[in-house]
Amino acid sequence: MNTSKEILGRIKIAINHSIDSSEVYLHKPNFIGTNAYEYIRDCLDSGWVSSSGSWVTKFEKLISEFTGSKYVIAVSNGTVALRLALYLIGVKKNDEVLIPPLSFVATANAVSHLGAIPHFIDIESDTFGICPIALEERLDQIAFLKNGQVFNKVTGNRISAVLPVHVFGLPSKIEEIKLVCSKWQLPIVEDAAEALGSFIRKPGESTHCGCFGEIGTLSFNGNKIITTGGGGALLTNNKKLAELAKHLSTTAKVNHPWNFYHDKVAWNDRLPNINAALGASQIEHIREKLHSKRNLHKKYLKYFNDLKDIEIVKEFNQSLSNYWLVTMRLNVENPYELREKILKDSHDSRIFIRPCWNLLNELPMYSKVPSGELKEARNQSERLLNLPSSPQLNDS
Ligand SMILES: *Cc1c(COP(=O)(O)O)cnc(C)c1O
Repeated sequence: MNTSKEILGRIKIAINHSIDSSEVYLHKPNFIGTNAYEYIRDCLDSGWVSSSGSWVTKFEKLISEFTGSKYVIAVSNGTVALRLALYLIGVKKNDEVLIPPLSFVATANAVSHLGAIPHFIDIESDTFGICPIALEERLDQIAFLKNGQVFNKVTGNRISAVLPVHVFGLPSKIEEIKLVCSKWQLPIVEDAAEALGSFIRKPGESTHCGCFGEIGTLSFNGNKIITTGGGGALLTNNKKLAELAKHLSTTAKVNHPWNFYHDKVAWNDRLPNINAALGASQIEHIREKLHSKRNLHKKYLKYFNDLKDIEIVKEFNQSLSNYWLVTMRLNVENPYELREKILKDSHDSRIFIRPCWNLLNELPMYSKVPSGELKEARNQSERLLNLPSSPQLNDS
């Protein structure tokens, strides 16, 4: 069996780490060589730092061009984007929303923020996303249709949406998930918070993650592939949903040169202009970042190629991952001890490798919600480690 020391040694080679290297984080933002200073100066000089200004529209346009999503609505963070997306497709209090247990807590929280209830569906081992087979089986087992709506036989609640996640940037099996959802006429909101720059590949054209469901969401938190400091966005090809998203995220103010007239209870979910300016300077470099991240992933593959029990996780065939985080899988019988040792040793070397999240169904607030069997989620989550993945590590 490979030892922690050996594994850490190879990680150090892959990222060119020496004794006097400084701390190595999982994913560190980088502004060197960008227009960040110039664009933010424009906000400071003009005074447009807050909820009005031209950078928001510019940033939305750049995201739209890159992702191919017809409409993009920038908001204040990825959690808010999810909550607004779920609201827009009609998720209501006491509804159930089908989500995977292996995700950042925001995925479940956004459901709860609407008074709805997360309902966990197991994942599959290639992509860590919702398993289409588990989804189909679970629906066949517990769901029934009444007046075109889906209900849970056991709880009596309406099931109003499916919320797949593209975990660590690896595209999930979203087309197969979509087939199951179409059968039940369940709308999809895709959590693509980690997947800017990830695509499902098709001969001739590729589709960006977040563009398969009714609405997709992105996050631009500091640790994501691009950052606005804090921010998020909704992606949709549906004009009506896009207009409503803009309206409800901007206090439902009816456009008028001086009147304050609001026609709905709504939110202040706006992305400030100064954050959008930073975002514009970031998305301008997305292709270079993707290139560097793919190279870094290749290096890890190369240096772990001959270790039998250690696998660097790869995108599935018809997909293109942004490799936001490079994931190592420990294919040993009892991974717990080895994983803890690697975490301890790497932290001693100030290389901040991280395990994957605690499963959401194991958190106190989500331990009693409806759930299918979560065998694969448990199996995978204990054997995963995320490695330092900043694009600048490739360039160093
Ligand atoms: C980051 C993240 C979010 C939330 O985004 P914030 O901008 O931090 O609110 C949601 N889902 C997933 C999977 C994430 O990684």
